[in-house]
Amino acid sequence: MLEKFTYHKAITVQAASEAAARPGARILAGGTDLVGCLRDNVFPVESVVSISAVADLKGIGPRPGGGLRIGALTTLTEIAESRQVRDSWTALAEAAGSVGTPQLRNQGTIGGNLCQRPRCWYFRGDFHCRRKGGDTCFAEAGENQYHAILGWDRCYMVHPSDTASALVALGARVTIAGRKGRRTIPIESFFVPPKVSLLKENVLEPGELVTEILLDAPPPGARSTYRKVRERAAFDFALAGAAVVVALAEGKVRTARIALSGVAAAPWRSTDAEKALAGKPLDSASIAAAAEAAVKDAAPVGKNEYKIALVRGVLEETLGRLAQA
Ligand SMILES: Cc1cc2nc3c(=O)[nH]c(=O)nc-3n(C[C@H](O)[C@H](O)[C@H](O)COP(=O)(O)OP(=O)(O)OC[C@H]3O[C@@H](n4cnc5c(N)ncnc54)[C@H](O)[C@@H]3O)c2cc1C
Repeated sequence: MLEKFTYHKAITVQAASEAAARPGARILAGGTDLVGCLRDNVFPVESVVSISAVADLKGIGPRPGGGLRIGALTTLTEIAESRQVRDSWTALAEAAGSVGTPQLRNQGTIGGNLCQRPRCWYFRGDFHCRRKGGDTCFAEAGENQYHAILGWDRCYMVHPSDTASALVALGARVTIAGRKGRRTIPIESFFVPPKVSLLKENVLEPGELVTEILLDAPPPGARSTYRKVRERAAFDFALAGAAVVVALAEGKVRTARIALSGVAAAPWRSTDAEKALAGKPLDSASIAAAAEAAVKDAAPVGKNEYKIALVRGVLEETLGRLAQA
């Protein structure tokens, strides 16, 4: 049952930020994640601040130098169907198109996708786990088949966002607005790993919101793709996923950026896999080496050992697809 809360509809970023700075305030974009959390009493709420009428947060537009600006309220459908995104930042279009169902993509926004809360069933259930300020991770000795194999520390949740990995691989930046002004940071520094904090998944402070995503023009010869493996093909979160950007020159990999989903509490940039490709032809030997490097530090927690083979497989398949593009 929904607890009582007050409702604000902001029409400017400043008003949204001021309302969201109040204790117990939650930002509402498309509501596909927040409303479920409120219904299930995952966290307390005193007020809900709708940003859906803030015009500055909408739409996709060009930036000088061939880049792109995507407003935080842009829906996943708009991103998945954008000709510009599909042509030049393909991994992002594919990641957005892989989220949930058509209804969720029509309603869900890119800002909400990046800021959605963990899907760990203990966190979402009636368990006072470490991510809620408790002193136990119930996944540690419990049902942990969907949990992290990389970078875990006292909490084993995996970040649920598909677009986050694509944006990390694409080297995107994110602009955050708050009462004290705006800052733009690399998206990799937006996410907070469990060793830094168990209580939040990103760097947003009370009153701060994501306003836009910035993408630079892709490097010459770059191709990108996103692929995720899920339990139900109809709609599901990633058991494992890979976003890959590769730029080739004279038949060899000049740059590669690889980010994995479904394996860690934040999109997992695999610099080891990237190094395994650098300067090599994109062939079966370098692809196998990259896939092996991606999981060399994997530490399964109990029931999720299968994810190691899954990551290897999804990365081999993704790189193989780019090799043939
Ligand atoms: C059945 C189901 C399946 C799903 N499948 C997937 C999936 O496969 N892949 C996937 O990635 N996601 C999935 N989702 C999660 C979710 O629907 C999407 O992530 C969606 O993009 C969330 O966007 P929203 O606008 O609805 O966010 P909201 O629900 O409005 O907000 C989500 C969270 O982000 C915060 N927030 C929203 N916008 C901002 C902003 N601009 N700045 C700061 N904070 C903000 C809110 O306060 C809230 O905590 C699924 C959800 C459901 C219910």
